[in-house]
Amino acid sequence: MTVDKTHPRYESLLFRDKIVKAGEQGLLAPSALISHGRGEAFDYLIGEKTTFPAKRAMYVAIASMIIAENPVISVNGNTTALVIDEIIKLAEELDAKIEINLFYRTPERIEKLAKLYEEHGYPNVLGTDDDDLEYINNLNSPRASASKEGIYTSDVVLVPLEDGDRAEILAETGKKIITIDLNPLSRTSKKSDISIVDNIVRAIPLMIEIAKDLKEENNLKLIQDIINDFNNEDNLQESLQEFKIKEEE
Ligand code: ATP
Repeated sequence: MTVDKTHPRYESLLFRDKIVKAGEQGLLAPSALISHGRGEAFDYLIGEKTTFPAKRAMYVAIASMIIAENPVISVNGNTTALVIDEIIKLAEELDAKIEINLFYRTPERIEKLAKLYEEHGYPNVLGTDDDDLEYINNLNSPRASASKEGIYTSDVVLVPLEDGDRAEILAETGKKIITIDLNPLSRTSKKSDISIVDNIVRAIPLMIEIAKDLKEENNLKLIQDIINDFNNEDNLQESLQEFKIKEEE
């Protein structure tokens, strides 16, 4: 399908199309389309704009990743379909690793995603079946698998569009968990240490710019102040207040 550029909902249709195509290529589980639809609905309600609390959480997320020992970005099919190049750029900017993590893990999907990262210039993606996989807290569940070099030994993990079960497992490890989730009421948003309530397609490009700015400032005190002044519960409440159920005049 080609998306008509003059359509009033062009952007939204474009990303929907990316998800549909990724589904056809076998990169996604069928339920991924439902997740995307849920995200679209929440995005509609925040006016498809990045809110102030979302931006604040992005600063804290980037500050935390800059001073992390082993920062990792966890990616699934949806994240890859929507923003693969931007994720690679962000990882490069932050000197972070990228690890594939799937709710419905199959060898075929893992292989296809790893190949796609390679084609986009990133050959070292973690979390593949060739990787040294461990189980977080010895939980014998695919939800708990993590690469030894990556999430398993990381101190700060960015897990966009994560499912609540896995977010809960990760939160119990004591690692700093950052999520991007348009639903401020999801278990993932509530369990994470830093919850960015925004669309990933707006968030990642903005986070790349924030990373560049903060690195250029090169001010450790500023970075620590950004982190210390943040309260995720308060920020989530503020994010929730951005949802409008009245049409704007
Ligand atoms: P939880 O278990 O955390 O309560 P869930 O299981 O209901 O969440 P999933 O379908 O597993 O939700 O995960 C999808 C989440 O990602 C949803 O909360 C959805 O709003 C969010 N989401 C989907 N697309 C995007 C997007 N493009 N940007 C940001 N968030 C998105």
